[in-house]
Amino acid sequence: MRAIFLGPPGAGKGTQAQRISEAYQLMHISTGDLLRGTIKDNSELGRKARVYMERGELVPDELVTALVRERLRAARRHRGFILDGYPRNQAQALALDEILAEEEIPLDLVVHFETPVEVVRDRLMGRRVCSSCGTNFHLKALPPSPNGRCSRCGGELMIRPDDQDQTVEQRIRVYEDFARPLVKFYRKKDLLHKVSGAQTAGDQYAELKRLFERKAK
Ligand code: AMP
Repeated sequence: MRAIFLGPPGAGKGTQAQRISEAYQLMHISTGDLLRGTIKDNSELGRKARVYMERGELVPDELVTALVRERLRAARRHRGFILDGYPRNQAQALALDEILAEEEIPLDLVVHFETPVEVVRDRLMGRRVCSSCGTNFHLKALPPSPNGRCSRCGGELMIRPDDQDQTVEQRIRVYEDFARPLVKFYRKKDLLHKVSGAQTAGDQYAELKRLFERKAK
């Protein structure tokens, strides 16, 4: 299965991409995680990306697309992949089409996590991320261990630097500017499936499992 998860920040893409890719042994390719990895490594790319990410803006297309190209080549050894957070605009969608054509990888599915803006705000404000394994939690909706640590690996939780008020508003604006053409692009290709981003993580997971089971037949 080769799928894209589209949706605003906080819609549940990352959480569900992690769970679904584990359930179906798919490669989870999150451009946000890849970029945060380059920052942690203090690489040249990381130093460039950080400036954009801290402002809640998109990192230049060519930098992100190079990362995705590399991961998609590696994904050939897997049973498929979930692309989480890419493409984020039309230029990236076209670049992705080219990569997939070059690698002869057909796309099966694009899931659009439709999410009201108030839900996005609440999710990002309450989000906590494990500094060790990257798992996402939410203080109310998806709480971590009672001891306040990651329930997967016991790691320390942190607030993502770009989950601060002003950056959140900028990320919502950036998403709204670019989302509509992307949704149209994949609807035309007859690949688009809507999932409500407002439902609980458990309900989202159940709906996605049904969708993946149907598609896998
Ligand atoms: P995310 O973890 O998906 O919310 O992404 C965090 C930040 O990484 C975004 O606000 C962007 O600054 C950057 N980023 C992630 N994916 C992309 C992408 N496909 N294109 C450009 N920037 C991206």
